[in-house]
Amino acid sequence: MDLVEVVREEDAVVERASERVASAIADRDVGESVASDRVELLSYPVARVIVSLVDENVCTRYYAEAEASRAAERFREDFGREDGRAAITRRAVLREFDLGDAVTPQRDGGFAVGVAAYLRHASSLRGDEWRLVNRALAVGDVPVSEPELDDLLREAVEERVKDGLPLQVPDAIGDALDEPVASIRETLADLDLTREIDTVVPDLFPPCMQHLLDAVQRGDHLPHHSRFALTAFLGNIGLSTDEIVELYEVNPGFGEEMTRYQTDHIKGESSPTEYTAPSCATMQAYGDCVNPDALCEHISHPLSYYEAKIDDADEEELEDWREGRDGDEESADADA
Ligand code: SF4
Repeated sequence: MDLVEVVREEDAVVERASERVASAIADRDVGESVASDRVELLSYPVARVIVSLVDENVCTRYYAEAEASRAAERFREDFGREDGRAAITRRAVLREFDLGDAVTPQRDGGFAVGVAAYLRHASSLRGDEWRLVNRALAVGDVPVSEPELDDLLREAVEERVKDGLPLQVPDAIGDALDEPVASIRETLADLDLTREIDTVVPDLFPPCMQHLLDAVQRGDHLPHHSRFALTAFLGNIGLSTDEIVELYEVNPGFGEEMTRYQTDHIKGESSPTEYTAPSCATMQAYGDCVNPDALCEHISHPLSYYEAKIDDADEEELEDWREGRDGDEESADADA
């Protein structure tokens, strides 16, 4: 039976496929498996087709994350089984994700991961502990614990799920999936994913903006296009003119009046337009796209990168940042 027949004739498969995607968006989970293995199995390729037809970055990302989390849950359960009834071994999963040759078990129960494989999968993991500089690199291998290896595997699964998306979908299949696709679009609209970003967490900035911010703080001279990109980005995520001017202040080439004037202009306070930070394509054209990471492959705008990172951050973590920022502001007011 080919996919056209499946989507036309197998309502249960289409229903489960739609649920995988809708739950991924709403709950970050692919929902309960159904009793029929056949329906469960076929619903995966159909869900990928639905995601392709919806063709929204945020949908693809949530879906891939949810599928990877479910797969990781399953394989962690299997790896932990001591009754010999595991459906799959860690070695087999590593091989499946092309990591068989890159990972070597160590005597202490940990693993050594080849640096290239490590970088590929750790680059999208949050937390300083994943940065290569914080790892004891030994002869081209990075030591990791067993749970850390499973985190890397989860990233590998996510990458595999995203691979090739969006698919080119023939009309015959697309037409049959009109309804579920419209329903997923409604779910996306309900989530108000286009809400304004108003949280400032420099650790979650895209690599290009972190690079520009570091350059400013080091006192480097920034060309006009780079300065425009950073200022617009900072304004778009909610920094006030005063806060932006303060960031530039440490730079010896800084002229307060000119910086204030340019910032007000870019923020639309002294001009009719609030400028938006440049897209990734423009950043690349100007040589401002620096150190792109795995997430960069799935976004087309530095603001989308930041939004994705903020969406992934714990509310508690964001609250800590907000409090830290308010505390800094209060102490600055008290000093003044
Ligand atoms: S791909 Fe986009 S977000 Fe990522 S570093 Fe380049 S310009 Fe920045």
